Amino acid sequence: MELYELTLHELQDLLASGETSPAEIMASVLGRIEAVEDRVKAYITLNLDEARKKADNFKTYSKSLDGIPFALKDIICTRGTRTTCASKILENFVPVYDATVTRRLNDAGGILIGKLNMDEFAMGSSTEHSAFFPTRNPWDLERVPGGSSGGSAAAVAAGEAPFALGTDTGGSIRQPASFCGVVGLRPTYGRVSRWGVIAYASSLDQVGVLSKDVEDCALVMNQIAGYDPLDSTSVNIEVPDYTSFLNQDIKGMKIAYPREYFGKGVDPQITERVKTALKKFEELGAVVEEVSLPHSEYALPAYYLVATAEASANLARFDGVRYGLRDFEADNVVDMFSLSRARGFGSEVKRRIMLGTYALSSGYYDAYYLKALKVRRLINNDFQKVFENYDIIVCPITPTTAFKIGEQSGDPLTLYMNDILTVPVNMAGLPGISVPCGLADGLPVGMQIIGRPFDEGTMLRAAHVYEQNSGYHCMKPAGVR
Ligand code: GLN
Repeated sequence: MELYELTLHELQDLLASGETSPAEIMASVLGRIEAVEDRVKAYITLNLDEARKKADNFKTYSKSLDGIPFALKDIICTRGTRTTCASKILENFVPVYDATVTRRLNDAGGILIGKLNMDEFAMGSSTEHSAFFPTRNPWDLERVPGGSSGGSAAAVAAGEAPFALGTDTGGSIRQPASFCGVVGLRPTYGRVSRWGVIAYASSLDQVGVLSKDVEDCALVMNQIAGYDPLDSTSVNIEVPDYTSFLNQDIKGMKIAYPREYFGKGVDPQITERVKTALKKFEELGAVVEEVSLPHSEYALPAYYLVATAEASANLARFDGVRYGLRDFEADNVVDMFSLSRARGFGSEVKRRIMLGTYALSSGYYDAYYLKALKVRRLINNDFQKVFENYDIIVCPITPTTAFKIGEQSGDPLTLYMNDILTVPVNMAGLPGISVPCGLADGLPVGMQIIGRPFDEGTMLRAAHVYEQNSGYHCMKPAGVR
């Protein structure tokens, strides 16, 4: 095995025993990037020289991420390294500060190698809406890696980064993780600081982890989770050691599977893989029962109202004045605003700004936005009711496996349908994890585990037991051997 193929915890072990060095790890990962990046195209920006220099200078290994390379979705601010959000409007934006999560990973000894591709402003499910180029799925280079954190999932799957961070507003960590056969965790809303993370829909956005296995996910969560006074929505409750939930059995654990998630529109091969996983949970001692989440079908339309409404407000700040692209031809300030935005935003972003502005406008606010908030409450109540009797919920993540590049890009509504099984978690602010549970026609299938608010631990416990008893996390992508 090459070093770039190893997990974070395997690299830590080798560093601790002196069998390898940060410089060797970095050389292996950068060598892998050189070998496959022109085909995968996961990165928007690479910090090769700086990363190499930092790895060469590493002398002591005392902190948990000492000498470990990592990469970030390009929505997360990095001091001195441009942060584009995959948009022309921020193409040359170089932040003067680090996001809290960036700072925490740096403080723990991690070394940033680069910034990863995504759908522009995290709006999309395929990474085809990047203003720069699409990223390709390492399992089949003709297919999308999912999105919007497609660069993060592809980089981890292809061995171009031991782990990465992404954001999940409506599924953007879990869905690409599932398409690329890696583990993806969206923590509870408020668990991880969003400070320095460019906002899409503030009441839904959450930063999380994409990794090669569940243990790595727990290790990275240990670094990024926790209260941040700079983020007023971050919650000040104790953060457990997430690795303490690993290697525990699940005897007696109560698992619910919602019938609405196994119905029409979900590829039968996916349903079958997840049902097989449920049997595995039963064999391992869990109690598995069917439940109902009756308002599930309203989650998608309600999500696309809430998300676009918040996006239209958040994106108002990109006016060509403070940062980003500015149009210099206009001869008055109003034209300067509108021309900068017309040139800087891509068509999907414009579509969402218009949708959201419409939903918030007087006369429509009650009919659309307020109605969507009421639906959100009902979805929340559905989950709360199930969690009165069950520890976790298990279901599929995506209706299909990775689709072909271009197959859905001309049809926004079809593309939005990809999120039907992921958005309820965001509407309710819950944690969710995607774990590989097999292949369908040679492409990865993911299983979704949903937890109670702030109970990422139980989710990780179930995910780890499943992973250790199934071994699907060891599958390697066929497209970049
Ligand atoms: N695909 C969803 C959207 O376009 C989710 C995106 C996300 O989670 N950032 O809104």
